[in-house]
Amino acid sequence: MTCVLAIDIGGTKLAAALVDEAGSILRSATRPTPRSDVMSTLAALIKEVMDDGPPPQAVGIGCAGPVDLAAGTVSPVNMPSWRGFPLRREVRELTGLPTVLAGDAQCFALGEHWLGAGRDCASLLGVVVSTGIGGGLVIDGVPLLGPTGNAGHVGHMSIDPYGERCECGGRGCVERYSSGPNMTRWALENGWTPGSGVPGTPDSGTPTSLGTAGTLEKADARALAQDAAAGDPIAVAAFERGARALAGMIASTAAAVEINAVVIGGGVSAAGKVLFEPLEQALDDISGLPFVKAVQVRQSTLGVRASLAGAAHLAWHPPPTS
Ligand SMILES: [Zn+2]
Repeated sequence: MTCVLAIDIGGTKLAAALVDEAGSILRSATRPTPRSDVMSTLAALIKEVMDDGPPPQAVGIGCAGPVDLAAGTVSPVNMPSWRGFPLRREVRELTGLPTVLAGDAQCFALGEHWLGAGRDCASLLGVVVSTGIGGGLVIDGVPLLGPTGNAGHVGHMSIDPYGERCECGGRGCVERYSSGPNMTRWALENGWTPGSGVPGTPDSGTPTSLGTAGTLEKADARALAQDAAAGDPIAVAAFERGARALAGMIASTAAAVEINAVVIGGGVSAAGKVLFEPLEQALDDISGLPFVKAVQVRQSTLGVRASLAGAAHLAWHPPPTS
């Protein structure tokens, strides 16, 4: 049986798998991302997955960005020890195999297109809503990577040219409104008390404030989602605001490149209908042209495996430019 080696590199976890041409995982393993010497840990992980398994014929890597596909280097925001790190060359030399690299959100989109929520779509936008907002495009079945591999960076599309300054230096970026930490920040600024939406639970008895030790742990997107689901008006408003910013970005992207669907994943998407209901309503309100209005919103079906699936697909079907 022939297979490829798929690798997914994130700020918290490294994952590797041998994947056959139908997308079945033959072997897989994960390790926490170390703070330093990531390559040694990755090499050990690759060895673990390849030992005693069928020999792979190529490697596909999805890595947290920014990436520079022209140079084959990566500089993941959450991995300070890798800046301009020549990941593609290192893995190629380690394995002796053809190696293809892309951003992890691009791999998410490709994975969902191949095996997940976008299986029936020619063209889709994948969006990862987490501590940041990542994105990737698949157009007519082919990943759209761009000259340096940064196409689909939808988290830093501006949905408000007069909006707040973003960490990237831009203004009014979607990420500033819709990422987990930013929705949480807005809710706290507007008087949300974590746990307020779930009366009767052991955690809800103690009012908390921003300055209270321990509060910041609880004041996260998961707590916000719980409170929104329980009807807390500020938590609901925070999700509506984040969803509306996402919808503006999705409608703009759809107008630019024409897509059948948007597939939403990432930790914040686990919030479910408190995110998806206002998102669909806002998208219906914002979009005008019929081909934009026709875009379907879907929740990821592959979850954390989506990027690995996309990396495997890259290895099986490398883009012509790689
Ligand atoms: Zn930005």
